[in-house]
Amino acid sequence: MTAMHNNFLPKYLPTTAEVVVVGGGLAGASAACVLAKAGREVLILEREASATHKICGEFLSTETQGYLRRLGLDLEALGGHTTSRLRLVCQKKVVETTLPFNGLGLSRYRLDEALLNHARQCGALLWRGQRASITNITDAIDLNFHSIGTVRTNTLFLATGKHDLRELRRNPDSPPEDLVGFKMYFDVDNAQRQALANHVELVLFAHGYAGLQRVEDGRINLCLLAERNWLKACGGTWAGLLEELLRICPHLQRRLSNAIPLLAQPLSIYRVPYGFVYNPPTDDADNIYRIGDQVGVISSFTGDGMGIALHSGVLAANQYLAGLDAGSYHHQIRQDIASQIWRAGLLYRASRWLPSQRLLMGWAGLMPRSLRLAASLTRIPSSAVTQAMRLMS
Ligand SMILES: Cc1cc2nc3c(=O)[nH]c(=O)nc-3n(C[C@H](O)[C@H](O)[C@H](O)COP(=O)(O)OP(=O)(O)OC[C@H]3O[C@@H](n4cnc5c(N)ncnc54)[C@H](O)[C@@H]3O)c2cc1C
Repeated sequence: MTAMHNNFLPKYLPTTAEVVVVGGGLAGASAACVLAKAGREVLILEREASATHKICGEFLSTETQGYLRRLGLDLEALGGHTTSRLRLVCQKKVVETTLPFNGLGLSRYRLDEALLNHARQCGALLWRGQRASITNITDAIDLNFHSIGTVRTNTLFLATGKHDLRELRRNPDSPPEDLVGFKMYFDVDNAQRQALANHVELVLFAHGYAGLQRVEDGRINLCLLAERNWLKACGGTWAGLLEELLRICPHLQRRLSNAIPLLAQPLSIYRVPYGFVYNPPTDDADNIYRIGDQVGVISSFTGDGMGIALHSGVLAANQYLAGLDAGSYHHQIRQDIASQIWRAGLLYRASRWLPSQRLLMGWAGLMPRSLRLAASLTRIPSSAVTQAMRLMS
């Protein structure tokens, strides 16, 4: 893999930068957009040399869409698929309701690259294709960009998502659950594509859950979380798991029976620390701003991780511009996201066990609109979003 850099940039990695953002996902790129637009010198270091697929249900909530539009992305031009209805499925029972907002299905492959390019257009420097690591943290922070060089900064935005830098590990209070996540794109037949038009589907089963929705170009995203023991019992392979899943879920069987997988291998992830909210120690550095999954990880069951990534990126950048240190930002972001993450965890746990699944389906069947309430309760409070957006130019 070769290091790539922007044509408009100097040939050599700068030796200093006012702010370095490590990680060019949604959190890092959104922060870089805000800082660069304000005329600050921002350098993004991103591990991947080009656009990549990411494990994600790719459901964009209304907050996610709001931030992306406000930052300057044209989501229509990117070709996402609008969804206004939710279908909750468990065994043979199906409950349907309208969402409290219009969602959008759009691949991370397309979205993350668009935002990263936009950050460059706003004036951020981007270097990519190598992993950044920390070689020294004192007052200043030295970062090594593998074979390319070293850069010194006084301010670090840590946006490495699920990957921790060794010196700055997240330490969740409780160990992550023994769950494995998978994502695969499918080409399905016309009848199933039509059935999925305008809908996001959440399918509960005994050993986990799956999300199904259309993204751009008519592709279907299947993203699921399953217990590792169950994966083992299915032979430890994706093929074995999918076969068993289609056997026990008639709904998925119908959707995917003639489907053609569009990736050579599914993307997978293990032991995501759902429920994590960064709790800064008393001696925490005041110049390291954690954003995105580095500051909080919401259960993907309710799908608002991208909203948190963008909210934290924008908030941290604005706080920095206002002269507030990382301690003050971490205090604010905890207030904004901790309850939402806790409620999403509660809802997810209620969906895990068969008796509570039955209860949930019965309740949702009687009052489908209560699903709207559940969706609303697991979003970032609108007051926090409004306040963060007000500061954006
Ligand atoms: C199974 C699953 C389903 C999900 N479904 C949804 C959903 O439907 N909707 C939703 O809103 N959220 C969803 N999420 C959550 C969402 O994907 C994340 O919350 C979001 O991607 C976090 O964004 P981020 O920018 O913090 O991290 P990332 O998107 O992971 O970006 C981190 C970036 O940092 C780079 N990086 C890492 N280490 C280094 C390094 N050392 N040096 C340089 N670069 C580095 C990576 O290459 C990457 O580009 C889901 C999550 C999971 C696990």
